[in-house]
Amino acid sequence: MSPRYDLHSHSLASDGTLSPAELVAAAHTASVDVLALTDHDTTAGIAAAAACARPLGMRLVPGVEISVSWGSQTVHVLGLGIDPDCQILQSGLAELCAFRGWRAEEIGRRLARAGIGGCYEGARKLAQGNIVSRTHFAHYLVAAGYAASVRDVFKRFLVNNKPGHVAGQWADLEAVMSWITTAGGMAVIAHPARYNMTASKLRRLVGEFRECGGIGMEVVSGSHTRDNITAMAALSRNEGMLASCGSDYHGPENPWVRLGELAELPAGCRPVWESEHWPNPAGRRQHHQ
Ligand code: AMP
Ligand code: MN
Ligand code: MN
Ligand code: MN
Repeated sequence: MSPRYDLHSHSLASDGTLSPAELVAAAHTASVDVLALTDHDTTAGIAAAAACARPLGMRLVPGVEISVSWGSQTVHVLGLGIDPDCQILQSGLAELCAFRGWRAEEIGRRLARAGIGGCYEGARKLAQGNIVSRTHFAHYLVAAGYAASVRDVFKRFLVNNKPGHVAGQWADLEAVMSWITTAGGMAVIAHPARYNMTASKLRRLVGEFRECGGIGMEVVSGSHTRDNITAMAALSRNEGMLASCGSDYHGPENPWVRLGELAELPAGCRPVWESEHWPNPAGRRQHHQ
Protein backbone atom coordinates (compact mmCIF):
# COMPACT_ATOMS: atom_id res chain seq x y z
CA MET A 1 0.00 0.00 0.00
CA SER A 2 1.26 3.48 -0.76
CA PRO A 3 1.87 5.78 2.20
CA ARG A 4 -0.87 8.11 3.35
CA TYR A 5 0.12 11.77 3.05
CA ASP A 6 -1.35 14.82 4.77
CA LEU A 7 0.82 17.82 3.94
CA HIS A 8 -1.04 20.71 5.59
CA SER A 9 -1.96 20.90 9.28
CA HIS A 10 -2.02 23.30 12.23
CA SER A 11 -1.22 23.01 15.92
CA LEU A 12 -1.56 25.29 18.94
CA ALA A 13 1.65 26.97 17.79
CA SER A 14 -0.63 28.89 15.40
CA ASP A 15 -4.41 28.63 15.15
CA GLY A 16 -4.94 24.91 15.65
CA THR A 17 -6.40 23.62 18.90
CA LEU A 18 -4.25 20.50 19.45
CA SER A 19 -0.71 20.66 20.82
CA PRO A 20 1.94 19.40 18.38
CA ALA A 21 2.07 16.12 20.35
CA GLU A 22 -1.71 15.69 20.28
CA LEU A 23 -1.78 16.49 16.57
CA VAL A 24 0.85 13.84 15.79
CA ALA A 25 -1.01 11.28 17.91
CA ALA A 26 -4.28 12.09 16.11
CA ALA A 27 -2.57 11.76 12.72
CA HIS A 28 -1.13 8.40 13.76
CA THR A 29 -4.58 7.21 14.82
CA ALA A 30 -5.86 8.34 11.41
CA SER A 31 -3.16 6.14 9.76
CA VAL A 32 -1.23 9.06 8.33
CA ASP A 33 2.30 7.98 7.37
CA VAL A 34 3.67 11.37 6.35
CA LEU A 35 2.40 14.51 8.07
CA ALA A 36 3.52 18.08 7.40
CA LEU A 37 3.06 20.52 10.26
CA THR A 38 2.47 23.87 8.56
CA ASP A 39 1.58 26.46 11.19
CA HIS A 40 0.92 30.04 10.11
CA ASP A 41 4.14 32.09 10.11
CA THR A 42 5.88 30.01 12.78
CA THR A 43 7.90 26.83 13.14
CA ALA A 44 7.59 26.75 16.94
CA GLY A 45 5.70 23.43 17.00
CA ILE A 46 8.06 21.43 14.80
CA ALA A 47 10.60 20.17 17.32
CA ALA A 48 7.89 18.78 19.62
CA ALA A 49 5.96 17.25 16.71
CA ALA A 50 9.07 15.60 15.28
CA ALA A 51 10.01 14.16 18.67
CA CYS A 52 6.54 12.59 19.00
CA ALA A 53 6.45 11.28 15.43
CA ARG A 54 9.80 9.47 15.61
CA PRO A 55 8.88 6.64 18.04
CA LEU A 56 5.56 6.13 16.20
CA GLY A 57 7.39 5.48 12.94
CA MET A 58 5.55 8.39 11.40
CA ARG A 59 7.33 10.87 9.20
CA LEU A 60 6.98 14.54 10.14
CA VAL A 61 7.78 16.95 7.35
CA PRO A 62 8.82 20.30 8.86
CA GLY A 63 6.72 22.96 7.24
CA VAL A 64 5.24 26.44 7.53
CA GLU A 65 2.32 28.32 5.94
CA ILE A 66 3.45 31.85 5.20
CA SER A 67 1.10 34.83 4.77
CA VAL A 68 1.85 36.74 1.57
CA SER A 69 0.37 39.97 0.24
CA TRP A 70 -0.03 39.67 -3.51
CA GLY A 71 -1.52 42.85 -4.88
CA SER A 72 -4.57 43.51 -2.76
CA GLN A 73 -4.98 39.87 -1.78
CA THR A 74 -3.61 37.60 0.91
CA VAL A 75 -2.21 34.34 -0.40
CA HIS A 76 -0.79 31.48 1.64
CA VAL A 77 2.42 29.76 0.58
CA LEU A 78 3.53 26.49 2.14
CA GLY A 79 7.19 25.76 2.69
CA LEU A 80 7.61 21.97 2.92
CA GLY A 81 10.80 20.38 4.16
CA ILE A 82 12.23 23.63 5.50
CA ASP A 83 15.05 23.71 8.02
CA PRO A 84 13.60 25.51 11.06
CA ASP A 85 17.12 26.55 12.07
CA CYS A 86 17.60 28.68 8.97
CA GLN A 87 18.27 32.25 10.10
CA ILE A 88 16.97 33.91 6.92
CA LEU A 89 13.66 32.09 7.29
CA GLN A 90 13.40 32.88 10.98
CA SER A 91 14.13 36.58 10.58
CA GLY A 92 11.40 36.80 7.92
CA LEU A 93 8.91 34.97 10.13
CA ALA A 94 9.84 37.21 13.06
CA GLU A 95 8.72 40.26 11.04
CA LEU A 96 5.40 38.63 10.25
CA CYS A 97 4.88 37.72 13.90
CA ALA A 98 5.65 41.31 14.94
CA PHE A 99 2.98 42.48 12.49
CA ARG A 100 0.58 39.89 13.92
CA GLY A 101 1.22 41.22 17.43
CA TRP A 102 0.39 44.78 16.41
CA ARG A 103 -2.59 43.68 14.32
CA ALA A 104 -4.07 41.70 17.23
CA GLU A 105 -3.96 44.80 19.46
CA GLU A 106 -5.52 46.86 16.68
CA ILE A 107 -8.31 44.33 16.12
CA GLY A 108 -8.96 44.50 19.87
CA ARG A 109 -9.09 48.32 19.83
CA ARG A 110 -11.45 48.38 16.87
CA LEU A 111 -13.82 45.83 18.34
CA ALA A 112 -13.77 47.76 21.64
CA ARG A 113 -14.73 50.90 19.71
CA ALA A 114 -17.62 48.93 18.25
CA GLY A 115 -18.74 48.12 21.79
CA ILE A 116 -17.19 44.68 22.20
CA GLY A 117 -14.54 44.80 24.92
CA GLY A 118 -12.06 42.24 26.18
CA CYS A 119 -11.40 40.61 22.81
CA TYR A 120 -7.66 41.15 22.70
CA GLU A 121 -7.23 39.64 26.15
CA GLY A 122 -9.63 36.82 25.26
CA ALA A 123 -7.81 35.99 22.03
CA ARG A 124 -4.40 36.16 23.74
CA LYS A 125 -5.58 33.74 26.38
CA LEU A 126 -6.76 31.23 23.78
CA ALA A 127 -3.44 31.54 21.94
CA GLN A 128 -1.60 30.43 25.10
CA GLY A 129 1.48 32.52 24.45
CA ASN A 130 1.68 31.63 20.76
CA ILE A 131 0.94 33.83 17.77
CA VAL A 132 -2.51 35.45 17.76
CA SER A 133 -4.63 34.91 14.66
CA ARG A 134 -8.11 35.96 13.64
CA THR A 135 -9.19 32.42 14.48
CA HIS A 136 -8.50 33.15 18.17
CA PHE A 137 -10.69 36.25 18.01
CA ALA A 138 -13.37 34.16 16.31
CA HIS A 139 -13.28 31.47 18.99
CA TYR A 140 -13.41 34.09 21.73
CA LEU A 141 -16.36 35.92 20.15
CA VAL A 142 -18.31 32.66 19.75
CA ALA A 143 -17.60 31.66 23.37
CA ALA A 144 -18.64 35.13 24.56
CA GLY A 145 -21.94 34.80 22.73
CA TYR A 146 -21.45 37.45 20.04
CA ALA A 147 -21.89 35.01 17.18
CA ALA A 148 -23.19 31.53 16.52
CA SER A 149 -20.17 30.14 14.71
CA VAL A 150 -16.63 30.91 13.66
CA ARG A 151 -17.86 31.36 10.11
CA ASP A 152 -20.42 33.83 11.34
CA VAL A 153 -17.77 35.84 13.24
CA PHE A 154 -15.58 36.16 10.16
CA LYS A 155 -18.51 37.34 8.08
CA ARG A 156 -19.77 39.88 10.61
CA PHE A 157 -16.61 41.15 12.28
CA LEU A 158 -13.28 40.19 10.76
CA VAL A 159 -13.39 40.78 7.01
CA ASN A 160 -13.19 43.89 4.86
CA ASN A 161 -15.64 46.66 5.86
CA LYS A 162 -16.46 45.00 9.20
CA PRO A 163 -15.65 46.52 12.59
CA GLY A 164 -12.72 44.25 13.49
CA HIS A 165 -11.04 44.27 10.09
CA VAL A 166 -7.47 45.50 9.95
CA ALA A 167 -5.86 45.82 6.54
CA GLY A 168 -2.18 45.25 6.45
CA GLN A 169 0.85 44.16 4.65
CA TRP A 170 2.17 40.61 4.94
CA ALA A 171 5.41 39.62 3.22
CA ASP A 172 5.88 39.89 -0.52
CA LEU A 173 5.99 36.83 -2.70
CA GLU A 174 9.56 37.15 -3.86
CA ALA A 175 10.88 37.53 -0.33
CA VAL A 176 8.90 34.56 0.96
CA MET A 177 10.14 32.39 -1.87
CA SER A 178 13.72 33.24 -1.04
CA TRP A 179 13.18 32.42 2.68
CA ILE A 180 11.73 29.02 1.77
CA THR A 181 14.36 28.20 -0.81
CA THR A 182 17.20 29.30 1.45
CA ALA A 183 15.79 27.06 4.18
CA GLY A 184 15.94 24.11 1.76
CA GLY A 185 12.17 23.84 1.38
CA MET A 186 9.77 23.35 -1.50
CA ALA A 187 7.28 26.17 -2.04
CA VAL A 188 3.67 25.16 -2.67
CA ILE A 189 0.63 27.45 -3.13
CA ALA A 190 -1.91 26.62 -0.41
CA HIS A 191 -5.60 26.05 -1.29
CA PRO A 192 -5.44 27.99 -4.60
CA ALA A 193 -9.16 27.62 -5.29
CA ARG A 194 -10.03 29.51 -2.10
CA TYR A 195 -8.86 32.92 -3.22
CA ASN A 196 -11.88 33.62 -5.41
CA MET A 197 -9.64 34.67 -8.25
CA THR A 198 -10.65 34.53 -11.88
CA ALA A 199 -8.96 31.75 -13.85
CA SER A 200 -6.68 34.23 -15.57
CA LYS A 201 -5.63 35.91 -12.33
CA LEU A 202 -4.89 32.52 -10.78
CA ARG A 203 -2.77 31.63 -13.80
CA ARG A 204 -0.90 34.89 -13.33
CA LEU A 205 -0.27 34.03 -9.66
CA VAL A 206 1.01 30.58 -10.60
CA GLY A 207 3.23 32.10 -13.29
CA GLU A 208 4.81 34.63 -10.91
CA PHE A 209 5.13 31.97 -8.25
CA ARG A 210 7.00 29.69 -10.66
CA GLU A 211 9.29 32.51 -11.75
CA CYS A 212 10.26 32.99 -8.11
CA GLY A 213 11.13 29.30 -7.72
CA GLY A 214 7.75 27.84 -6.72
CA ILE A 215 7.20 24.27 -7.83
CA GLY A 216 3.89 23.04 -6.52
CA MET A 217 0.29 23.80 -5.63
CA GLU A 218 -2.31 22.09 -3.51
CA VAL A 219 -4.73 20.24 -5.74
CA VAL A 220 -6.47 18.30 -2.97
CA SER A 221 -7.26 20.41 0.11
CA GLY A 222 -9.74 20.21 2.96
CA SER A 223 -11.11 23.48 1.66
CA HIS A 224 -11.50 22.40 -1.98
CA THR A 225 -14.71 20.99 -3.39
CA ARG A 226 -14.72 18.14 -5.93
CA ASP A 227 -15.04 20.70 -8.71
CA ASN A 228 -12.16 22.72 -7.26
CA ILE A 229 -10.00 19.58 -7.27
CA THR A 230 -10.78 18.91 -10.92
CA ALA A 231 -10.03 22.53 -11.86
CA MET A 232 -6.81 22.69 -9.82
CA ALA A 233 -5.63 19.36 -11.26
CA ALA A 234 -6.03 20.78 -14.76
CA LEU A 235 -4.25 24.00 -13.78
CA SER A 236 -1.34 22.11 -12.21
CA ARG A 237 -0.92 19.98 -15.32
CA ASN A 238 -1.15 22.92 -17.71
CA GLU A 239 1.28 25.03 -15.70
CA GLY A 240 3.74 22.22 -14.97
CA MET A 241 3.20 22.48 -11.22
CA LEU A 242 3.65 19.53 -8.88
CA ALA A 243 0.51 18.58 -6.95
CA SER A 244 0.15 18.48 -3.17
CA CYS A 245 -2.59 17.30 -0.84
CA GLY A 246 -3.39 18.41 2.69
CA SER A 247 -6.38 18.56 4.98
CA ASP A 248 -5.63 22.02 6.49
CA TYR A 249 -6.67 20.41 9.78
CA HIS A 250 -7.11 22.88 12.67
CA GLY A 251 -8.52 20.54 15.34
CA PRO A 252 -11.49 18.35 16.20
CA GLU A 253 -13.84 21.37 16.47
CA ASN A 254 -14.24 21.22 12.68
CA PRO A 255 -15.50 17.65 12.29
CA TRP A 256 -15.88 18.05 8.53
CA VAL A 257 -12.10 18.20 8.10
CA ARG A 258 -10.36 14.95 9.04
CA LEU A 259 -6.64 14.25 9.18
CA GLY A 260 -5.43 12.08 6.32
CA GLU A 261 -8.87 11.58 4.78
CA LEU A 262 -8.15 13.07 1.42
CA ALA A 263 -9.26 12.38 -2.12
CA GLU A 264 -6.68 10.78 -4.43
CA LEU A 265 -4.75 13.15 -6.65
CA PRO A 266 -6.45 13.05 -10.07
CA ALA A 267 -4.73 11.16 -12.88
CA GLY A 268 -1.95 13.05 -14.58
CA CYS A 269 -0.95 15.04 -11.50
CA ARG A 270 2.64 14.63 -10.43
CA PRO A 271 2.80 14.47 -6.63
CA VAL A 272 5.27 16.68 -4.76
CA TRP A 273 6.76 13.62 -3.07
CA GLU A 274 7.94 12.27 -6.43
CA SER A 275 10.05 15.37 -7.00
CA GLU A 276 13.83 15.40 -6.72
CA HIS A 277 13.29 18.33 -4.33
CA TRP A 278 11.27 16.27 -1.86
CA PRO A 279 13.13 16.21 1.47
CA ASN A 280 15.14 13.09 1.98
CA PRO A 281 13.94 11.17 5.07
CA ALA A 282 17.50 10.22 5.98
CA GLY A 283 18.46 13.82 6.51
CA ARG A 284 17.97 17.30 5.28
CA ARG A 285 18.79 18.33 1.79
CA GLN A 286 21.95 20.34 1.41
CA HIS A 287 21.26 24.03 1.37
CA HIS A 288 22.95 27.34 1.87
CA GLN A 289 22.34 29.23 5.09
P1 AMP B 1 -5.04 35.26 10.07
O1 AMP B 1 -3.89 34.56 9.42
O2 AMP B 1 -4.80 35.59 11.49
O3 AMP B 1 -5.55 36.42 9.27
O4 AMP B 1 -6.23 34.20 10.13
C1 AMP B 1 -6.54 33.45 9.01
C2 AMP B 1 -7.13 32.11 9.46
O5 AMP B 1 -8.48 32.29 9.83
C3 AMP B 1 -7.15 31.09 8.35
O6 AMP B 1 -5.97 30.36 8.36
C4 AMP B 1 -8.31 30.22 8.71
O7 AMP B 1 -7.89 29.24 9.65
C5 AMP B 1 -9.24 31.16 9.42
N1 AMP B 1 -10.33 31.67 8.56
C6 AMP B 1 -10.23 32.61 7.61
N2 AMP B 1 -11.45 32.86 7.06
C7 AMP B 1 -12.32 32.06 7.69
C8 AMP B 1 -13.73 31.83 7.60
N3 AMP B 1 -14.48 32.51 6.73
N4 AMP B 1 -14.28 30.92 8.42
C9 AMP B 1 -13.51 30.25 9.30
N5 AMP B 1 -12.19 30.41 9.44
C10 AMP B 1 -11.61 31.30 8.65
MN1 MN C 1 -5.70 28.89 9.97
MN1 MN D 1 -4.36 29.00 4.63
MN1 MN E 1 -3.67 26.28 6.75
